[in-house]
Parts: sequence; structure tokens; C-alpha cells
Amino acid sequence: MKVVAYSIKNFEKEFLARANQKKHDITLISNPLSLKTVMYAEGKDAVVVFTNDDVSAPVVHKLADMGIKYIATRSVGTDHIDKQAAGERGIKLANVPVYSPQAIAEHTVAMAFALNRQLILANKHANNFDFKLDGLLGFNFSGKTVGIIGLGHIGLATAAIFKGLGCRLIGYDVAFPANAPGITQASLNELLQQSDIVSLHAPLLPSTKYLINKNSISLMKDGVMLLNTSRGGLVNTADTLAALKMGKIGYLGIDVYENEKGLFFEDHSSDNVKDPLLAELIAQPNVLVTPHQAFLTHEALQQITEQTIRNLDLWQQDKCVGNSCACAVSCRIPQEVKVTVNI
Ligand code: NAD
Repeated sequence: MKVVAYSIKNFEKEFLARANQKKHDITLISNPLSLKTVMYAEGKDAVVVFTNDDVSAPVVHKLADMGIKYIATRSVGTDHIDKQAAGERGIKLANVPVYSPQAIAEHTVAMAFALNRQLILANKHANNFDFKLDGLLGFNFSGKTVGIIGLGHIGLATAAIFKGLGCRLIGYDVAFPANAPGITQASLNELLQQSDIVSLHAPLLPSTKYLINKNSISLMKDGVMLLNTSRGGLVNTADTLAALKMGKIGYLGIDVYENEKGLFFEDHSSDNVKDPLLAELIAQPNVLVTPHQAFLTHEALQQITEQTIRNLDLWQQDKCVGNSCACAVSCRIPQEVKVTVNI
């Protein structure tokens, strides 16, 4: 297949080359897909994208006009793709339904530790040879209640780690899994009211957009720790900032941000004007922001690239992708309950 892969970073190249074994003719582009860069798809069969590429309807229509038949995203989430437009134009879609959930789960818990034990501050002080303990007071995770919203692959993996720390686990999911050992099922309100730590692992869907807003925050415990390694759109950032300033939210760890497109994955340190909402959030002492890096482990990259190449292989052989047929894109919209299967 002739393929163009967008938003390719240097660290991905060797993984992609190893997975591809020269089977497909893949052009690597570091820029994200957009109306400005869509012309690089001319003459190709498929495009490979990532979470912050613009795969909105206008871009999808342009791709279809150019004869693109397939779009494969190197992610679990598919919220960046206009699935309806792709379905209308007969473009087949595939994602990477599961890859190393531990990568994201471990990053989530790493954020929780860094926030709780003030690791960033301690290291900043240590760099100045300042070894005093002021401002470094933490709490034990053992015995605390952790509420997991979205008990899919990543939610369950995160729960397992917190369980190992001696936490009490409660979970909310529109389709609560049969195999959720040690996790007590709760309604969303119960979870918000009881949790010392709330961790978000549901996909971004119309029903989960701004799941965390001033109303849901008002139900939370004072000083709660909120973690989001899912998608930025689950959290109303302005409401969250207000709650941080009031002390309602005690700690915030986010790997994703609702306006991260065009911002994350690139160095914006010398921009004159910086995203004011994010700038104010980062300025808070009890906030940790990472640049959508939870997936970034060797194991995850290997699985992502291998599955992406497998998706291309199967399309080339005119076979269905994964455990569901990618040809039936329009049959799987909307996927309010579960988006784990290939789209
Ligand atoms: P998954 O499909 O296995 O699990 C998602 C779970 O959310 C499912 O059990 C589903 O029933 C549940 N859900 C759906 N709608 C819900 C709602 N309204 N309320 C509560 N639960 C709901 O997906 P996963 O592999 O666990 O990934 C979860 C999300 O993590 C992805 O959608 C993606 O957005 C995000 N993600 C982030 C990174 C990162 O690097 N930060 C990497 C991979 C995935």
C-alpha cells in the first residue's frame, strides 16, 4: 500500500520501520494532518494519523476526493476523526483498540505520586541545594478511596495498581465489567462523593464531554485529587481552575487538555502569546501537566506500530480489521457505550 503517516516524531520512526519491514511504502511527515498538509496524501491509498491530527469533515472530504480509502489512527481514542464523514465517503477506519494499558495506568499513578509527595517541588529545591521539608507534606495512599470512571482496559489496569497500594476501589462505568475484582460498583454521584482520588478513563463522547464541571465538582470531597489521562474534553478546565483556586480540588494531574490540539507535542516555549487558561492552570502549585505522554513507553510504541501495520496488511488483503469489520463504519456510529472494538 502507498501510505502517508502524519505527526511522526523521531522516536516513532524505528518502531514503525521495524513493524513495517518494508511491506508498505510509507511516507513519514512530521507535521499534523490539516487542510494545509492534506496534499501530501495525493496518490496514496491510506493515511495514518494520531490524536491531534485534524481529521474533521472538511479534511476527510479532501482525502476522499484524492482517492484515500483508509484512515488508520495510532491511538485507542477516535474522537479526533469525523466518523460520519468517513462513513459517507466510504473511507474505512481502524484504531489500535488495545495497547499496553499499563503504560497509561502507570503514568496516571506516577502523576498521583508526584502530586501527593511534591516530587517536582522537592527536586526543584534540591537543584538549588535546598533540602528543607517545608511544603512537602503528603498523605498515605493506603486506606484512601480511589474512584475510577471508565473501567475498560486502562481503568482496570489503573485500579489494579491503586489496589496494590492498599486503596479502596470504587468504579463507575455505563457498562460495568463482569471482571472487576475488588472494585465496588458505584453511581457517578456516589463515586464523586466518596473518592479521595478521582481518575478518568472513559472515552471522549458526547455523553462524557465536560463530565467534570462545576456541578460534578461540587459533589466531590474537599481537597480531592483529580487525574485525567483520558481526553481533555472530559474536564471543563475553567470550572476546574476555579475549584483549584477555592481549594475544593486539592491536586490536579492532567496528561490531556481540552485545547491541546496544535499545542501539545510541540515546543511552544518561545510563543509570545500562550494559551491563557493552560498558563493559569500550570501556575497553580498543586497542578501537574504532562504533554499527552502517558502512552509513551517502548512496549506501547511497539504494540501501536505493530497493530497499525497489521491494520494496513488486513486492508490490503481485503480483510476485516481486528475483531470487527472496519467496512461497517457507519453501522458503529454512535458508539456511546463502548468504542473498544475497531470502528
Ligand atoms: P476502553 O474502551 O477499554 O474503556 C473505556 C471504558 O469507558 C469502557 O468500559 C466504557 O464502557 C466506559 N465508558 C464509556 N462511556 C462512559 C461513560 N459515559 N461513563 C463511564 N464510563 C464510560 O478504553 P481504554 O483503552 O481503557 O482507554 C480509555 C481512554 O483512554 C481512551 O478512550 C483514550 O481517550 C484514552 N487514552 C489516553 C492515552 C494517553 O496517552 N493519555 C492513551 C490511550 C488511551
